[in-house]
Amino acid sequence: IGEGDEVITAPNSFLATAGSVISAGATPVFADVRDDYNIDPSKIEEAVTEKTKAIIPVHLTGRPADMKAVLDIAKQHGLYVIEDAAQSVGASYNGKKAGSFGIAGCFSFHPLKTLNAYGDGGAITTSDAALYERLMKIRNHGLKNRDECEFWGYNSRLDNLQAAILNVKLKHLDKWNRRKREMAALYRERLQGISGIISVPSDAPGEEAVYHTFIIRCENRDELQRHLLKQGIETKVHYPIPIHLQKAAAALGYKEGDFPNAERLAKTILSLPIYPELSNDEIETVCNEIRAFYTSR
Ligand SMILES: *Cc1c(COP(=O)(O)O)cnc(C)c1O
Repeated sequence: IGEGDEVITAPNSFLATAGSVISAGATPVFADVRDDYNIDPSKIEEAVTEKTKAIIPVHLTGRPADMKAVLDIAKQHGLYVIEDAAQSVGASYNGKKAGSFGIAGCFSFHPLKTLNAYGDGGAITTSDAALYERLMKIRNHGLKNRDECEFWGYNSRLDNLQAAILNVKLKHLDKWNRRKREMAALYRERLQGISGIISVPSDAPGEEAVYHTFIIRCENRDELQRHLLKQGIETKVHYPIPIHLQKAAAALGYKEGDFPNAERLAKTILSLPIYPELSNDEIETVCNEIRAFYTSR
C-alpha cells in the first residue's frame, strides 16, 4: 500500500490510525461510526473506490468492531483488513480474539494500554507467512541476516527490556481484563437511572469487550468533568477532536459535518476512571459524585 492508494478507517480513533496510512504514502479515507464508537459497515461500503486497498477497523474502547460485516465488504471488494487492536488486547467477537480477523492485527504496549511496557512497544499479529517474513525484516532495517539487506526498512525492534517486562505482565492480562469487565458491570449498575446520562456501554451479543476505556455519554459533559475534577476524580475525553478536523488532516479536504455521528459523539463522551487497581469503593464514589452533580441541577 503506497502512493495513490486509499485506506478506509474511522475518524474518531487515536491519531496513529490515520497517521500510519499517511506514513505508507497512502490516503486515509474516513467512514463514520455507529453509536458504539466503531466503524459503520454501511459507511465503509459508500467510501470504497477503485483506489481502495484496505480497511482499518479500530476496536475502540476495547470493543470489537462489527467484524463479520467488515470482512464481508473486504471480501466482496478484494480489500485487506488490518485491525487496529491497540485498545483491545484480549477482547473477542464470537469467540475469536481481536487482532486475528484480518491479514494483520496491530497492538500497542504504550504505558496507557492494559498490557503496558515501561516505555514504548507494540506488536503485529499475522497468519500470513509472507507478511510475517517481511515484517521480521522491515523492523530491523530490512536486514535478512547480519550483513545482507533486501529492502529499506526501519528501526522498529521491540526493546529487550520492555519485552522482558511485557513477558511478565502477559501472565496477568486475562485477570486484569476480567477485573475491568467486573468494574464495567459495577459502573453500569451504579449509574442506572441517573437523568443526564445518555448512555453507558455494555456488550452487544457475541462481544466480549475489555473496556480499555469506559465511555459514557452525558449531558453537560464539560461541567460534569469540572465537577468531578474538583472532587479529585480525573476523567478524559477520547477524543475531543475527530481526526478529520485536526490541523494535520487539513490537506485531506474534510470539513465539519462530514462525519456527523463521530462529531456528535465527541461532544458528549466522557471516559470514567477504569484500571485494574481501581477499587469498588472508588467506583462507588465516582458514581455518587455523578449522581450528586445531576441531582443538584
Ligand atoms: C494507542 C493507540 C495507537 C498507537 O499506539 P502507539 O504505541 O503509540 O503506536 C493506535 N491506535 C489506537 C486506537 C490507540 O489507542
